[in-house]
Amino acid sequence: MIKRQTTINRIFKLSGIGLHSGHPVNLEFLPRREQGIVFVLNGVQIPARYDQVADTRLSTLIARDGAAVSTIEHLMAAFYYAGVTNCLVYIDGPEVPILDGSAWEFYQGMWKAGVYEFPEEQVYLKVVKPVEATHGDAWVRIKPLNTLDITMTIEFRQPVGLQRRRVSDVENAFSILNSRTFTMQEEIEAIKKMGLAKGGSLDNAVVVGEDDVLNPQGLRYRKELVNHKILDLIGDLYTSGYRILGKVEAHKTGHHLNNLLLKQLFSDPANYQIY
Ligand SMILES: [Zn+2]
Repeated sequence: MIKRQTTINRIFKLSGIGLHSGHPVNLEFLPRREQGIVFVLNGVQIPARYDQVADTRLSTLIARDGAAVSTIEHLMAAFYYAGVTNCLVYIDGPEVPILDGSAWEFYQGMWKAGVYEFPEEQVYLKVVKPVEATHGDAWVRIKPLNTLDITMTIEFRQPVGLQRRRVSDVENAFSILNSRTFTMQEEIEAIKKMGLAKGGSLDNAVVVGEDDVLNPQGLRYRKELVNHKILDLIGDLYTSGYRILGKVEAHKTGHHLNNLLLKQLFSDPANYQIY
């Protein structure tokens, strides 16, 4: 368990295209003294926090004072895995680059930059009362536990079907980090009609066809799709501003429910302890 507040050891940059805009976007990572991850767009500081989340339809989008940054979830998961608690992320466009569709390149950037430890202890959030968020047949809940433990179930048409994975040692489950985002082939046209996914390709997403995935290299893991949903959940949970300790169980959850869970959690101080 990471005991201290940390930031990156030196400034580094990353560039790529936005999944939805298709436009190039540049990121610059700077060390930060205070706990928290903060994005900076056009001079506006937007804390990567659940209460700044303004849209969750296709990704997690944060907004403040007319500035908005979308698709923060994979980057947030990379911060979680790298153990970085404090960082400023300068961005010159409205969408975090999709890169290979996973959190791997973000994590590599942080790992190469190195992690700097402050003397201050990191602040954790421990769940003390069960909380849940439900929508239709989808749900996510969190119960008291001294570590972070996640069980995720997804359900899609064949050949995906029902997939489940439990990760009890989240911090060391690196197969989560490089599992890519995915879509069903038939959904692509509808998304493109909405003017979205302009930057989407087989280089940054797994596309599930009728019988198999369309990506020539296939899947990185047998459970890559459910892994990616866990990645999204870890990134979304990190918008709590803390490393959360609790047992999470989720069924067909997404960014909307993940955000709702945090709002539910923070709605009553009796639900959690900060220490
Ligand atoms: Zn994702």
